[in-house]
Amino acid sequence: MKKIYFLFSIVVLNCSLYAQSTNEYDIVLIGGRVIDPETKLDAIRNVGIRNNKIAVISSNSIKGKETINVSGLVVSPGFIDLHIHGRTNIEQEYQLHDGLTTALELEWGIENLKDWYLSRKDKALINYGGSVNWPYERFKAISKFTDNANSLLQKNRKEGISDIEAMTNTVLPAATEKLTDAEILKTAANVKNSLLEGAIGIGAPIGYLPKSNPLEFYRIFQTASELKSPIFVHVRNPDIISIQEAINNAILTNSSLHLVHINSMATGNIDLALEMVTTAQKKGFEITTELYPYTAASTTLQSAMFNDGWQERLGINYADLQWEATGERLTKESFEKYRNQGGVVIMHMMKPAWIKTGIKAPGVLIASDGMPYSKLAHPRTSGTFARTLGSYVREEKVLTLMSAIEKMTLLPAKRLEEISPMMKTKGRLQVGADADITVFNPTTITDKGTFETGPAFSEGVEYVIVNGIFALKNGKTVANTFAGQPIYGKYKNWQ
Ligand SMILES: [Zn+2]
Repeated sequence: MKKIYFLFSIVVLNCSLYAQSTNEYDIVLIGGRVIDPETKLDAIRNVGIRNNKIAVISSNSIKGKETINVSGLVVSPGFIDLHIHGRTNIEQEYQLHDGLTTALELEWGIENLKDWYLSRKDKALINYGGSVNWPYERFKAISKFTDNANSLLQKNRKEGISDIEAMTNTVLPAATEKLTDAEILKTAANVKNSLLEGAIGIGAPIGYLPKSNPLEFYRIFQTASELKSPIFVHVRNPDIISIQEAINNAILTNSSLHLVHINSMATGNIDLALEMVTTAQKKGFEITTELYPYTAASTTLQSAMFNDGWQERLGINYADLQWEATGERLTKESFEKYRNQGGVVIMHMMKPAWIKTGIKAPGVLIASDGMPYSKLAHPRTSGTFARTLGSYVREEKVLTLMSAIEKMTLLPAKRLEEISPMMKTKGRLQVGADADITVFNPTTITDKGTFETGPAFSEGVEYVIVNGIFALKNGKTVANTFAGQPIYGKYKNWQ
């Protein structure tokens, strides 16, 4: 009996060895143009996936339980977006069709982060994560709001209002508070707690609290530096002086700064803003930036961005504002009515040349600033990545395909890997990397959302694999598949 068992074990062992030696993978992608921005591989290869990882990249023929012929298509690391605001699968499905495998809320961050991570477990289409929400941690630290901060936030969560809008409305009453020393210390302690819940850095959109004290802003940079945590900043005002304030704080505290959407912050001064960023980098400071490829911005009309003097600050007038709920352009009268009411507005305020300058600049990441879904939400919500590949690589030839893919995969992964070591195996198409893969047609990829019609699924993204599982196949969402995993910062202290 023992002998039979022994023989049986040998047969089983040999079978499994046989399966490995004949390269039977879970999924095989045959004949695609495989691009990896880190090794600069750009060649026709077969890719084999086993146990959620990339197991082989080869010119030899390989076999899989499931084999897909992807000849004529580009096989890229899955796209990584470090700036999104929609927190549900509605937004994630648009992102999936735009080629994303990871979408992170790092500009504003997320309150009550551990609860949020738990609420998304086994439910997300693509990988998800968030930073510390500094405006909320600051709000909670102000003694008169400490006890009821969360209930005020819940009260603002009404039907038809997105999480980000509810948050903006909640922290607004504290916008001009001058924090005491004790409250500033409490803010730092709150920030630290949120990092322990798994936050990926600190989101500091001071542009929504532009009258807040410069001391406080400087202190949050000190906190970021002490905690060795990157800080993601929407600067105080859309002007070069505000960009200088953030860069100064980063340099003085030696903290790691990421400036969000440089296009809408620098506007006509984008050349100077980029010069400042690269000069700081050359001096060894970890300062980076990102851009979305559209000439309009979008935010809430009740926010501080539209305080008196906005026309001059933004260089636009009423008719350049488009009300998201109806698509109408505003007048003085409708502006006042809607500002009282509250809601999202699209601001046509940038020139195509500024976008071109930013998108081609080495080291500038692509990030969508995608909005929570609404019928007429800003089209960046659904098309940022396909638009970069269709309009700026294929049509305008502003970027090479390799360079565009690098800005959408490797650079965001590298930017985050110190605070989130999980990112070291993302953004790469290499053996051992996570099987987050986007397969697209470079001759047809294009964004379909517009300012007139709102978000729409991008076209040309044929397959998306998230952690070794097909989330998109033949250009269609795979039903009932929730392959997205949480991305955490390194300080997470719970299981
Ligand atoms: Zn922003």
